[in-house]
Amino acid sequence: MASNVSEVINPATGQRLAEVPATTPDEVDAAIGRAATAYESWRAVAPGDRARLLRRFATVVDAHVEELARLEVRNAGHTVGNARWEAGNVRDVLDYYAGAPERLTGRQIPVPGGLDVTFHEPLGVVGVIVPWNFPMPIAGWGLAPALAAGNTVVLKPAELTPLTALRLAELAREAGLPEGVFTVLPGRGDVVGERFVTHPAVRKVCFTGSTQVGTRIMAGCAAQVKRVTLELGGKSANLVFADADLEKAAASAPYAVFDNAGQDCCARSRILVQRPAYDRFLELLEPAVRGLRVGDPAAETTEMGPLISAAHRDRVAGYVDGATVAFTGARPDGPGFWYAPTVLLAGSPADRHWREEIFGPVVSVLPFDDEADAVRLANDTEYGLSGSIWTRDVGRALRVARAVESGNLSVNSHSSVRYWTPFGGMKRSGFGRELGPDALHAFTDVKNVFISTEE
Ligand code: NAD
Repeated sequence: MASNVSEVINPATGQRLAEVPATTPDEVDAAIGRAATAYESWRAVAPGDRARLLRRFATVVDAHVEELARLEVRNAGHTVGNARWEAGNVRDVLDYYAGAPERLTGRQIPVPGGLDVTFHEPLGVVGVIVPWNFPMPIAGWGLAPALAAGNTVVLKPAELTPLTALRLAELAREAGLPEGVFTVLPGRGDVVGERFVTHPAVRKVCFTGSTQVGTRIMAGCAAQVKRVTLELGGKSANLVFADADLEKAAASAPYAVFDNAGQDCCARSRILVQRPAYDRFLELLEPAVRGLRVGDPAAETTEMGPLISAAHRDRVAGYVDGATVAFTGARPDGPGFWYAPTVLLAGSPADRHWREEIFGPVVSVLPFDDEADAVRLANDTEYGLSGSIWTRDVGRALRVARAVESGNLSVNSHSSVRYWTPFGGMKRSGFGRELGPDALHAFTDVKNVFISTEE
């Protein structure tokens, strides 16, 4: 593979799908320059017109949901059901933030001797850096609020999964977004992504990816006091109390961690079960895991596809070597980067598979004694992204939800993401919030203006 070309592989077959030229440093600088020029006119577009363009972009995406979904099935191995949801999510996020330009209101604050008003000013060029696990939604979560607030966007997809982002850029042009307003620049993280950090015209970096790279990006942004939002790794807990609906908790636990083959920052990859319910829970979990339909991601009934690459599969397998395997689910034979859903029994919270983000279909189970023990074990991690609490006791659900240091919790459910509610991490899972009403202001600075009324 030449260094200036990314080879795109279908992870379900191992076959080459496409070759995508990597953007060179000079091309990145030129694109950032065009985005900076486009910013001057984009910020001046009347709010209603900017809103209309974003709604039109959403409509064009909607007309291509199936095409985008099929492309993601081939490029990322996502199940077709998931991939349709992901393309639909881009549409919905665009639609949601299309409502923002006319509502981006400031305040009028009472002061003596004049009028004081605030404005939410756009920042300029925003650099969005996207990982390979959810190429479409994460692109949308950055680009839609950034554009709605009046910024222009340069976006770098992950090397392994550039195809849907490139298609979205074409659809944006088809919808009438002016040139330079939204540009996709495929290429290497340490070339294209790094340039977003160092180029002074990029005023904010919106990064989703590993905690390791995120830490480096934050340090790099500090040099220019560049705004940064970080959505990083996770090792989230699924807390099952003995009074819970165990059937329901066990039936849904596989989907909370094996969805997208576990390549999900929100994966509830640590299951904590209160001791009296531990054996029964495992008894119920086993058929749920064995019954998971793993196979061709293009088939309508498939629930789990392959891992993204051979290297990633080897990394995931490394966590299982030497660990206590309770049981595993199915996996197809033949080519493709397959890994069976795997349930591990943790000997202690010091186990490597209990502590580190595996990012594959591997879940660890550990018993706990009481509520305080559950909270202590759930918080005994550097991460804090999501988590679930299963109990019939409303008071306990609320106490535990407030005590767990995590940005997104669900009670008697595993859902994490709705485009109209905030999403983001605590601790080393990152900071800043995407989606929902809070995200918009992460793409603006508040300006205060005082106008004297004195004669
Ligand atoms: P990664 O950090 O390796 O890469 C993410 C992106 O950063 C890629 O586009 C990559 O090319 C780019 N990059 C790499 N080095 C860079 C550098 N020096 N400067 C700038 N950009 C650089 O992560 P990944 O392996 O693609 O994704 C998996 C990780 O992402 C997991 O840790 C997962 O938890 C995390 N993630 C978090 C969220 C969230 O919202 N919190 C969502 C999805 C994924």
